[in-house]
Parts: sequence; structure tokens; C-alpha cells
Amino acid sequence: MHDFLSRLGIAEVNSGAAGAAGFLPTTGRVVASHDPATGEVIASVQLAGRAEYEALVADAQTAFVAWRELPAPKRGEIVRQMGEALRAHKEDLGKLVTLEVGKIHSEGLGEVQESIDIADFAVGLSRQLYGLTMHSERPNHRMYEQWHPLGLIGVITAFNFPNAVWAWNAMIAAVCGDVVMWKPSLKAPITAIATHRICHEVLARHGMGGVFTLIVGDDADVGETMINDKRVPLISATGSCRMGRRVGQAVAARLGRCLLELGGNNAIIVHHDADLDLAVRAVAFGAVGTAGQRCTTTRRLIVHEAVADALTARLVAAYEKLPVGNPLDDGTLVGPLIDDGAVAQFEHAVAAARAEGAEVLCGGARVDGPGSFVRPTIVRAARDLAIAREETFAPILYIYTYTDLADAIALQNSVDQGLSSSIFTDSFRAAERFLSAAGSDCGIANVNIGTSGAEIGGAFGGEKDTGGGREAGSDSWKAYMRRQTCTLNWGTSLPLAQGVKFDV
Ligand code: NAD
Repeated sequence: MHDFLSRLGIAEVNSGAAGAAGFLPTTGRVVASHDPATGEVIASVQLAGRAEYEALVADAQTAFVAWRELPAPKRGEIVRQMGEALRAHKEDLGKLVTLEVGKIHSEGLGEVQESIDIADFAVGLSRQLYGLTMHSERPNHRMYEQWHPLGLIGVITAFNFPNAVWAWNAMIAAVCGDVVMWKPSLKAPITAIATHRICHEVLARHGMGGVFTLIVGDDADVGETMINDKRVPLISATGSCRMGRRVGQAVAARLGRCLLELGGNNAIIVHHDADLDLAVRAVAFGAVGTAGQRCTTTRRLIVHEAVADALTARLVAAYEKLPVGNPLDDGTLVGPLIDDGAVAQFEHAVAAARAEGAEVLCGGARVDGPGSFVRPTIVRAARDLAIAREETFAPILYIYTYTDLADAIALQNSVDQGLSSSIFTDSFRAAERFLSAAGSDCGIANVNIGTSGAEIGGAFGGEKDTGGGREAGSDSWKAYMRRQTCTLNWGTSLPLAQGVKFDV
């Protein structure tokens, strides 16, 4: 086992449940987590089941009573210390992200940095959970709104951001006064265990060990139990649209709240006046970064016909030089897919594109040898491809051409998902048109910046089948709180609103 794993407290077999007092004994099946670059086992987890789930809910509910009483800036101070603890472990945790999900080392570190950034953001936010005051229509009355914590938040995370997506939710929810139970993906449980341990140590020092709990278990067992549990007023779930449909229905049936961050199918439009140097770099990072396994990955490129041949040639040349290899090695820019199931999805998509008459310009195949590696792929499409309307979690870029910007925007918007979008142009008019109400229909719309690599200061999320949720910065914190409108009468009469008379 790697040294850094022992420094993070990872054993060969780890418990999949952690409550107020730390990790609990579990009795479920043992699941191994594999390094997708080599196929080797990193470590294993003994899964938790419903009995552990009940114990964790009890711990969380007890913790909530104390946590919500703590003034928000004091909660912010504890979150600050968690950010510091993550800073101290950034190198080891970043390496673990790389080892477990295959993103290159700088991206593994970047992911932990994102968790640190959101902790810093949450600290400031802990003094800014503002409500509005309104002028009452009645004399001697004061009206205002205030925000209270919701309670226990269930956070379900996807494999591809095994550290930061939890932190986006947990750090904000914590300053809001909520407690959080984390159900990570079974494809990245070891990062979740290490991350939880680091933050739990800080909380436990303050006697608040139950504020964050962790449950690693099967979807059909603990996942379904959590989403159907009325004691969990908000489920924040990140993952595929398929998962979001199931979670959304279950939570709606009990009139709970959902925050859904689901799949994307993101496009970059490159206009005839674009700076192609910028566009090449942005498209390459957007389409190939994280081996095409980001929700914001650039999957479609819609290029003005005047620059299509030049841009395509430059991209193919850049792709052919991309270093594919072990993501822990310096110089690697493309790591593996998460597993062989993802390689099969990649192969299926390439075959489907060919069957639809598209031309594979580069890549298109698995890399021989150990690990789940594929070659970054460019597909030129003469017409709209059915396969390009689906999100294939792999580095496949479909290139289309256009002559009229309105058609390009319509093509971009024609998919079910609505997460991220970009235009490259030096034209003020084209940029503003893209950003107007008749422009991009996505939650994120960029100009001369690619579709991926968002900063935490903005609200992050997408429309349509992407689920409509917003996380991280801006006023996303409101999703984790309940709003209360308060009216105080400090006068000696009882006037009714709208002039209603009811004298008794
Ligand atoms: P997935 O849908 O297979 O799994 C996501 C999570 O949902 C996992 O923890 C899984 O165990 C859980 N889950 C599945 N069924 C469940 C159920 N019935 N009850 C409770 N939990 C259940 O997704 P994945 O393969 O891990 O991740 C890739 C997907 O996530 C892509 O579609 C990607 O676009 C999306 N994603 C979206 C965002 C975003 O912010 N919009 C961020 C990262 C990933």
C-alpha cells in the first residue's frame, strides 16, 4: 500500500459507516476500489446497511440540536479549521483522488483546492446569511424574513468529483446550521473515507462529531432508504440524469426537497472571428481534461464553416501529441476512464457514430495493455447525430459546422441537457446574442472561455435534464435553509391586512 494512504488513515479494509464517535463496525459485503490506471486494488470497504443508517441518523439528529444553536460565525470558525485541515492534507488527498479516479495529478490537487476554496467561501458566508426587511402596510408593524437551517441533508455524490462535490454541499450546509450525511459513489469510496476522516477530526475536537456522517452502501439499500426518508428534508444528488429521475421522483413523492446536479452535453460555438489560439486550448482542455469525465466536458464543437477546416486540423494535430498514461506521472495529460464499463460505453459511442455516417478523425480505440485507457477522439459529423445527444462519459468530441449563428445556437440548445456552454468570438454582437434570453439555454454561458473549470464563487448548475439545482457560490446557500417571514405588531391595535374588518 502507498505511504500516503496510511498517512490518510486508510487500512486494507475500511468501515463504510462513520458517525459521531468515528467509524463503526459494519457487516455488509466487502467492495474493493481499483486504480483505473493499473487495475490494482487500492483498498477495500465493508459496506454499511440499514442498521448503520439508523445509527447515523440518530447521531446526526442529536448533533443538529447542538449545531443549530451555535451562532453561524462560530460554525464558520469550525469550517475554517476544516479548510486548514484539508490544506494540510492537500498533497496526499490530491494523490488519492488521482489514484482512485484517474484524473491527472494537477487536477487531483485542483479538486482538493476547490474544497479548500469552498470552505473559505463558507467562512465568509457564515456572517452573511442575510434576510430582507419589508415595509408593512399596517402601522406599528415590522416585517422581515430570516433563514433557519433545514436539518439533516443527504448528499449523494458522483465518482468523478469524489472530494469537491461533497465539500461544495457540506461546507455551505454546515455554516447554515445543517448536518450532513454523505453517500459517496461505490466507484470512489476511499477518497470519501479519507476526506471524511480529516473533517471529522476537527468536528470531534469541538464535540460536534455527528455534524458530518458518512455511509458507504448499495444504492438499492442505503441509497433508496435515504431518498425515501422523511427525516432528510433535502437530498442533494450529483450524478447521471437516470439517477436524478429516480431520486427526484422518490423525494417529490414525500414532498421533500431536491437539489439535482445531473449530466451535461456541453457545446462550444466557434464563430468566424474567433481567436483560434484561445479556442484550440479551451476545446482541448474542455474535451480531453479528466479524460472527458466531467459534467462540464465539451462534447460538441459547433464551428463556423469559414474556420472549420483550420480549427479541425489544429485540433487533430494537438490530439495526436496528447500524452496518455499513468495520471501520477509528470507530463501525463490524459489518464484512464474510471473502469472497463466506461471503455465499453466509449466503444459503443464510436461505433454508433460510424454507423450514423460520421467520420472518426483521430482516436476511436482503446489503448492496449493494463488500465482503462482510450485514445481521445474527434468525430466529424455532417448532420446531427443521435449518439451525440447522449452524454457518453469519455473523451469524444463531435464537430459540426454552421453558417448562421442562430442555427448554431439552436443546435447547441437542441439537446435534453443544459449545463455549460461557450462561444468564442471577438464580436460584441455575437457574444451578447449568445448571452441573451434567446441565446444559450444553459446554467453556465461563457465567452472566450471553455465549458469546464468553473470557479466556486458563482452558482453552479444547469437547466432542463441537468436538474435545475445550484451549488457553491452566489446565493446557492438558500437551498440549504428554510425561509421564515416574520411580522411583529408593536402597536396597541390589531389592524388586518388588505383592510379586512373582523371586530369581535
Ligand atoms: P451515477 O448516476 O451512476 O451515480 C451517482 C450517485 O448516485 C452515486 O453515488 C450512486 O451510488 C448514486 N445513486 C444511484 N442510484 C441511486 C438511488 N436509487 N438512490 C440513491 N443514490 C443513488 O453517476 P456517476 O457515474 O457516478 O457520475 C457521472 C455522472 O454524474 C455524469 O452524468 C455527470 O455528468 C454527472 N455529474 C454531474 C455534476 C453536476 O454538477 N451537474 C457533477 C459531477 C458529475
